[in-house]
Amino acid sequence: MSLSGEAIFLSDSEISSFKKNFSGPLLKEEDKDYNEARLIWNGMINKHPALIVRCKNSKDVSLAVKFAKNYNLLTSVRGGGHNVAGNAVCDGGLMIDLSLMNNISVDTKTKVAKVEPGCTLGNADTTTQKFGMVIPSGIVTSTGVAGLTLGGGFGWLSRKWGLSCDHLISTEVVTAEGEIINVSAENNPDLFWGLKGGGGNFGIVTSFKFNLRELGPEVTGGLVLYKLVDTENVLSFYNEYISTAPREVTTVLVYRYCPPAPFVKEEFHGKPVFGIGALYAGKADKGLEVLKPIKQFGSPIGDMIIPKPFVIHQAMLDAGQPKGECYYWKSEFLKTVSQSLSEKFVEQTLNMSSKSSIIAAFQLGGAIADVGEADSAYSFRNAGYAININTQWQNHSSPDKHIDWARKTQQLTTPYSMGSGYINFASADETEQRVVATYGNNKYKKLVDLKRKFDPDNFFRLNQNIKP
Ligand code: FAD
Repeated sequence: MSLSGEAIFLSDSEISSFKKNFSGPLLKEEDKDYNEARLIWNGMINKHPALIVRCKNSKDVSLAVKFAKNYNLLTSVRGGGHNVAGNAVCDGGLMIDLSLMNNISVDTKTKVAKVEPGCTLGNADTTTQKFGMVIPSGIVTSTGVAGLTLGGGFGWLSRKWGLSCDHLISTEVVTAEGEIINVSAENNPDLFWGLKGGGGNFGIVTSFKFNLRELGPEVTGGLVLYKLVDTENVLSFYNEYISTAPREVTTVLVYRYCPPAPFVKEEFHGKPVFGIGALYAGKADKGLEVLKPIKQFGSPIGDMIIPKPFVIHQAMLDAGQPKGECYYWKSEFLKTVSQSLSEKFVEQTLNMSSKSSIIAAFQLGGAIADVGEADSAYSFRNAGYAININTQWQNHSSPDKHIDWARKTQQLTTPYSMGSGYINFASADETEQRVVATYGNNKYKKLVDLKRKFDPDNFFRLNQNIKP
């Protein structure tokens, strides 16, 4: 059996001997669960690892790393399997699958959550909300906590409390040598700095300890949709509103075709729309008052900003991002969403190659920028928005027109960009230059030094790679 691009052959007895000490299932192409395990969120990614090892604990992860190192196997790491670039899976090599490690425990006294790397945002929110607490994270519930946090992690609570990685207290990491180490501000502080935004470059995180915030269970949030032709007026209102809105308010702007949502009259289904998504991170009644101007402005064609459980709000955009469809993304950080850029987004919405695509502007700022730029690997803390140019389609055989649309939209955005985009929104074709731009030259140099210290052979290379 060939297990890597480097023509390594492993006999069944070598695999059996590994299996003796490994507690989770091993999956080969002929096994029943293999196909389900190799398929990730992005249906464009169709890779076949020679072996999938489903770890149950950090000892399994350590054994898998040592096994892969020993046989020089190309190795991918799967957390939630959501990354659009598809680096969680590889062709012909070893896939270290963490999805069975999905425990989460909450200490209500210290307000700390311990999260395993196979947890999704949905797992984390459902568990922490039982205690009226939350780990600030992202906006679609099937996304993995692991990959999201290691790249930064922003969502509806970011302006109030900052990034997911800003809430890290400590982590347990399996290094490229298979050693299990603790990483925090006290232990391996250089690595702790790198894990907050440097992605999966330095080791496999087998446990995350997060500070929790108090929220909910009821909050006010949702989405207001307008006809796309009203975008200019709505954006003028929005930019004025947000200039004085408290940090409790975080918004996401969307340009898209209207889905068949029950809160929008049928006549608008399938028509181009502009939307303001918003959440107030505080008491639901106060939120209703603060978000009222958004609800009352202009002539919305649908308004679902209402009080509701936080976990329901978190799932609001799930249906539009199903597993198995094809996705290709581009991203840029922006200071603001100006009228002139918005005109280009309107034009590109009308030119969308697929009616499932979305241009989304995630609002940043607030508490994200309270942390110093040098204090974590995550960069562009002074950005006002992260743009997600998200093309989505169903027919697996003809991606070109969709990819062209996303690239063209990115080209039109570039003059407004702060110089790069969000590492967690990067597709598989990003250049090394682009990764350098994401961190800036000085920070990138520091990350290279860290890589040389913890992974000089670039064992962890299926990621937005920092080359030693
Ligand atoms: P995976 O594909 O499993 O992992 C991605 C990479 O992370 C791996 O290739 C590996 O290099 C690394 N990795 C994963 N687990 C580990 C680990 N335990 N140790 C070391 N390395 C590891 N991001 C936001 O910030 N906010 C959002 O609101 C948001 N919304 C999203 C919505 C959707 C629908 C999707 C698809 C993505 C969204 N993202 C968002 C981006 C998301 O943060 C990234 O896709 C992230 O990589 C997902 O993590 P994962 O564990 O699911 O991914």
